[in-house]
Amino acid sequence: MTPDEPTASTPHEGATPPRSTPALSGSTVPADGSTATPVAPLVDRFGRPHHDLRISLTDRCSLRCTYCMPAEGVPWLARQTMLSTDEIVRVARVGVDLGITEIRLTGGEPLLRVDVVDVVRRLTALTGPHGSPEVSLTTNALRLPALAAPLRDAGLSRVNISLDTLDRGRFMELTRRDKLVDTLAGIAAADAAGLHPVKINAVAMRGVNDDEVVALTRFAVDRGYQMRFIEQMPLDGGHTWDRTQMVTQAEILDRLTSAFTLTEVPGRGAAPAELWTVDGGPETVGVIASVTAPFCSACDRLRLTADGQLRACLFAQDEVDVRAVVRDAEVGDEAVAEAFRRCLAGKKAGHGIGEPTFRQPDRPMSAIGG
Ligand code: SAM
Ligand code: SF4
Repeated sequence: MTPDEPTASTPHEGATPPRSTPALSGSTVPADGSTATPVAPLVDRFGRPHHDLRISLTDRCSLRCTYCMPAEGVPWLARQTMLSTDEIVRVARVGVDLGITEIRLTGGEPLLRVDVVDVVRRLTALTGPHGSPEVSLTTNALRLPALAAPLRDAGLSRVNISLDTLDRGRFMELTRRDKLVDTLAGIAAADAAGLHPVKINAVAMRGVNDDEVVALTRFAVDRGYQMRFIEQMPLDGGHTWDRTQMVTQAEILDRLTSAFTLTEVPGRGAAPAELWTVDGGPETVGVIASVTAPFCSACDRLRLTADGQLRACLFAQDEVDVRAVVRDAEVGDEAVAEAFRRCLAGKKAGHGIGEPTFRQPDRPMSAIGG
């Protein structure tokens, strides 16, 4: 099987599900149930409550975007290190018990996981003190024509789709695959399936697609989608990121205001994108200015990698090995909750890009989960 194909079930698939464990409150819950009461909300030492868990379902991908992966790919995670679906659901269940209300599935390309519909069904069935989590997905859309309707039926709330260019030749250069038509079909499928609002993400790159800021926004607005531009971050597999080459939020806004009237949407909260209505709305355009206007002070996200490492930040150097915890038959859910707390305890105030001590994480974006 090539890394571009849907990934087979992980070795632990179908293996003995986690045994019934003492609930965090001390009572007993079934392995996949969720009746525990939280022992403490997920608040870090800077007072930031955490509600959002990003789960990477695989590090593999059907594209090779230049800002994310080198052409030859990266060494894939070993199968036996990947979390099984039972293990993912168990970690998520404890997170939901601790106050997680939003789960975003990502990767790599999350739709390459063969049981992605089942994963969604099981995650949306979890309940915690705030009810069931909202489950959404970030994808390159290539498999959405086949999966959009089943995912919606499984409870998926919406999708974020990556589309950096509307030009076929550029798409090929950027992703190293000739798949623009398939991505566009995937976007249409998400829309037809009612996975609204459809959000389109583009990483702005100088001399590559920065002249398409207006065209991409028009494409999205005309169809009722939300366009969001992302400042490129130092997370590429090749470690070639250069701040001086990065297209900034200010430059993106300059291009947008040359064609549209933008009105700031207040009440951003913990959302990474700052939003503006386009020509009076209702459609909006957003910019995720992770580098020039970091939103770390409002960050409410934790990440679980496909190989079971909890990360407090995209740029964290430390990880907490929750895979070892869920594979230890001697410990129960309190140990999983403790892993969440340990991860939070190490969370820094900000990502530190631009500081002299900043070091790009070893894992590329595709292996962390964007
Ligand atoms: N494969 C899916 C996709 O492309 O949507 C999900 C995973 S991808 C890593 C998640 C998001 O991260 C995408 O929107 C992608 O554009 C973004 N991304 C990847 N590398 C990035 C980088 N170096 N800087 C900023 N965004 C990046
Ligand atoms: Fe794959 Fe998404 Fe990375 Fe592109 S950005 S290589 S689609 S994981």
